[in-house]
Amino acid sequence: MPDRNTMQKAAVHKALCEMKTHPTAAMVYDQVHQDHPGISRSTVYRILARMAEEGKILRLELGGSDSRYDGTMRPHSHIHCRICGAVADLPATAVTPPEDTAGFLLEDWAVVYRGLCPACRRAAEHIG
Ligand SMILES: [Zn+2]
Ligand SMILES: [Zn+2]
Repeated sequence: MPDRNTMQKAAVHKALCEMKTHPTAAMVYDQVHQDHPGISRSTVYRILARMAEEGKILRLELGGSDSRYDGTMRPHSHIHCRICGAVADLPATAVTPPEDTAGFLLEDWAVVYRGLCPACRRAAEHIG
């Protein structure tokens, strides 16, 4: 019988993996809370932060908004809608890091494409 901690962790991970929206911690909490009314907001936030540190899930920093979480671990890129904040997966694209890293030890990098999601694009074309 797994302990409560393990079960909560599994529930958070399952909810995240089922959501394809790259949710914020608040969105994951709302989802998990439906099936597990006993789980607290701070527990969900803590589990997500821990799993991201352990490399079990991805945390996306998209600038200007809350961190988004992603349960998809195969290599892929992201595109971010600048109007509504929607995030979608794109196939992985090769990025060549610069030879000059300004003395930094380069450990990781990520490319985020930006633009308009299909809904915002339709809305913009309507107005335009
Ligand atoms: Zn949009
Ligand atoms: Zn993703």
